[in-house]
Amino acid sequence: MIVDRKAELRKDQAALTEARARARVLPIWRNRSLVTGDRPPKPIALEGAAARAALDAGEHPVFLGVDGSGAPVFAVDLSAIDDPSSLGIEGRFQDLRMAGAFMATPDFEPLAYARGITRWNRKTNHCAECGGALTTEDAGFAKICSQCETRTFPRTDPAVMVLVVREDRALLARQHGFPKGMYSALAGFVEPGESLEQCVHREVGEEVGLSVRRLRYHDSQGWPFPRSLMIGYLAEAGPGDVVLEEEELEEARWFSKDELRSPKGFFYPPPMSLAHHLVKSWLG
Ligand SMILES: [Zn+2]
Repeated sequence: MIVDRKAELRKDQAALTEARARARVLPIWRNRSLVTGDRPPKPIALEGAAARAALDAGEHPVFLGVDGSGAPVFAVDLSAIDDPSSLGIEGRFQDLRMAGAFMATPDFEPLAYARGITRWNRKTNHCAECGGALTTEDAGFAKICSQCETRTFPRTDPAVMVLVVREDRALLARQHGFPKGMYSALAGFVEPGESLEQCVHREVGEEVGLSVRRLRYHDSQGWPFPRSLMIGYLAEAGPGDVVLEEEELEEARWFSKDELRSPKGFFYPPPMSLAHHLVKSWLG
């Protein structure tokens, strides 16, 4: 949906004003995204009068870029409004983690983008250096401190996800609090001063006590829950048994390719997730 972020327009007030007048708008309400009642849901972009009403009534408008038809797309936060249907908005506001589970990637990505940048704008009000109040700049992509003039930018936290395999089997684990029956690839946040590969070795060692080799980068995914970038690897397990880190994980299990091709009594994360991509890619 967003085909070009058009970052060069973020400082161009005349262009932004013109863009607002014909904008499509992805509204966020209390961290939820506007979608249709279809299965799976589709994103709803407000147009025309509804779009302008949302931009006027909402907070933290952000210029996201242009879509495939060249129309400018904004996100706006309607959280301060108790009933967004009072703006003439139809559709339903849903948590993207639920609503997006079976969405196609081109539907999921703009909603994820809108959710992430809107949340940053809502949460980032004070300077980390001096505590001064922040003013928004660059169409929602920067903030500047009113006291010390330090600039603050949207943060993304890198995290690795790794599908550990051993011959015909792959290791999936359950974190405490996962939905019943769900197993996923191992994952963890990158620490300061650490490379992605060092993080893979450390996380696998910490969580299941295995060494890994032949790391292979697969792909990555913006994951704004709340602000991660997931970086996916496949890796081969070294010798030895799984030793579970029980504070973080409830269980880790080796699954055969046959089990993963037709899961019975368990499931792994849905198609929009990187874990799903890793499993499918490994299955071939
Ligand atoms: Zn400051």
